[in-house]
Amino acid sequence: MNDPVDVLIIGAGASGAAVAWSLAETKMHILCLEQGGWMNPATYPSTGRDWEARAFGDYSPSPNIRAQPEDYPVNDDNSPIKVVNFNGVGGGTVMYTAHFPRLHPSDFRVRTLDGVADDWPVDYDTLAPFFEENDRMMGVSGLAGDPGVPPRSPPMPPLALGRSGTMLGKAMNRLGWHWWPSDTTVATADYEGRARCINLGHCTPACAQGSKASTDITYWPVARRAGVELRTHCRVREITTNEHGMAAGVVYYDADGV
Ligand SMILES: Cc1cc2nc3c(=O)[nH]c(=O)nc-3n(C[C@H](O)[C@H](O)[C@H](O)COP(=O)(O)OP(=O)(O)OC[C@H]3O[C@@H](n4cnc5c(N)ncnc54)[C@H](O)[C@@H]3O)c2cc1C
Ligand code: SF4
Repeated sequence: MNDPVDVLIIGAGASGAAVAWSLAETKMHILCLEQGGWMNPATYPSTGRDWEARAFGDYSPSPNIRAQPEDYPVNDDNSPIKVVNFNGVGGGTVMYTAHFPRLHPSDFRVRTLDGVADDWPVDYDTLAPFFEENDRMMGVSGLAGDPGVPPRSPPMPPLALGRSGTMLGKAMNRLGWHWWPSDTTVATADYEGRARCINLGHCTPACAQGSKASTDITYWPVARRAGVELRTHCRVREITTNEHGMAAGVVYYDADGV
């Protein structure tokens, strides 16, 4: 389709979903093209006994192993870090481990404080309201009061420490190290239509319970109700530019390969 739009977003993952939602109230014509499809939690590995095996097959974090139609191979031979991702509505958040630590104020000033890389052009305090907004939209569970970071108020109580967490906590106490239960986007209470975590199994190959926040179940339903258009199975081939060298549009393949 060649209809012009006001805003074109490529990819319906973490950032694509948040940007679509944040612009929705402008009522501009916003279109998102996503190469993968909508997720069906009824088919997630955690609904079956073979969930561990499927994490090495169609729900591997590596696109090279999954090799689904929405994946394309990524050559990581020359990289010490192997590629992990997920291609579909929700993007990487379908497969992430829901660990949601916030940046520290010092992370924005690493050149000044540590002499490495660069300072950010914004500081923590400028971003704090947006961290809060994202925490609410994704649904963060955590424990307020950590003296090591600026104050914040996670909307849900923290996950239980469990046996391994308790053991690690005791070990860090013995070493005199500061520790605190980490923020996660796993719902510990029913939250915005999501059911709370029932420890179905390992969360990485997607959460069938809907407890782990992925943007297909957090940002996208709200953005679409507000009028954002999301076209799935549409793979962008190239970004076109105008006479000023500015991005002006894309060429993409639709679900029929057109
Ligand atoms: C196994 C795993 C565990 C992780 N654990 C954590 C964690 O615990 N905590 C944390 O904060 N982060 C974690 N991450 C990282 C986190 O998921 C990513 O940083 C985040 O999703 C990146 O957001 P993004 O919007 O940049 O890209 P993505 O979320 O990857 O979204 C990109 C989207 O664009 C689509 N796309 C790509 N190319 C095209 C194209 N040509 N045309 C159309 N669509 C296209 C893709 O299909 C995808 O849906 C994890 C990731 C993985 C894979
Ligand atoms: S129900 Fe809880 S333990 Fe199971 S996959 Fe979802 S978030 Fe993870």
